[in-house]
Amino acid sequence: MKILLLDIESSPNVAHVWGLWQQNVGINQLMESSYVLCWAAKWLGEDEIIFDSVHQSKPKKMLKGIYDLLNAADAVIHYNGTKFDIPTLNKEFLLHNYSPPSPYKQIDLLRVARSQFRFPSNKLDYVAQRLGLGKKQEHEGHDLWVKCMNGDKDAWKRMETYNIQDVVLLESLYCRLLPWIKSHPNSNLFSDSAVCPTCSGTRLQKRGNAVSSTGTYQRYQCRDCGSWSQGTKAIKPSVQVKGLN
Ligand SMILES: [Zn+2]
Repeated sequence: MKILLLDIESSPNVAHVWGLWQQNVGINQLMESSYVLCWAAKWLGEDEIIFDSVHQSKPKKMLKGIYDLLNAADAVIHYNGTKFDIPTLNKEFLLHNYSPPSPYKQIDLLRVARSQFRFPSNKLDYVAQRLGLGKKQEHEGHDLWVKCMNGDKDAWKRMETYNIQDVVLLESLYCRLLPWIKSHPNSNLFSDSAVCPTCSGTRLQKRGNAVSSTGTYQRYQCRDCGSWSQGTKAIKPSVQVKGLN
């Protein structure tokens, strides 16, 4: 299974406003809409981190790079990408007349953090630091985006470092959260032999039975990543009588 780690940075919308508090901005006040400034990506398990930006390439060429990677991916790992990175990229693909990339599964680590744990903050920076995985690259804040939009070379170097560090953190966090990820894409669909559905490991240990309404199944725990799984064939089918309530 080919798994891609992905993070994008985008420009802010630029608008004319008459105040700073509780503004309703009409579309005729919108001067420039948000666009993808850059992206960083990495194949899980490989060393190379790929980066491209509108500073290095024309927008269409920059988009083609990440479009080709998505086409080759079976699954994509991101942080809040379900709501942000993927729809943002899709909007740009549409605007540049690309057809949809081939379907891939999404593993959104923000959703995992929210659903499985109760951290006081679910920001990537907080969760990563709390787990001792490192932190996001520090930068001057909003000014960095403004400088990049104005073509400042040094600012772009800092943006690249920042974007790449997010992907590095994302990979460390993925490896740490792995056994907690519910409905992870099943590695067995990409393997000839029985493997851990989550990490593709082969060291599956029998650990009791999984009992459900359809029967009793062998339960396993992976000795590599710690995730739980079960056999697909019932070792004891359920009695063929069903309750009414
Ligand atoms: Zn595993």
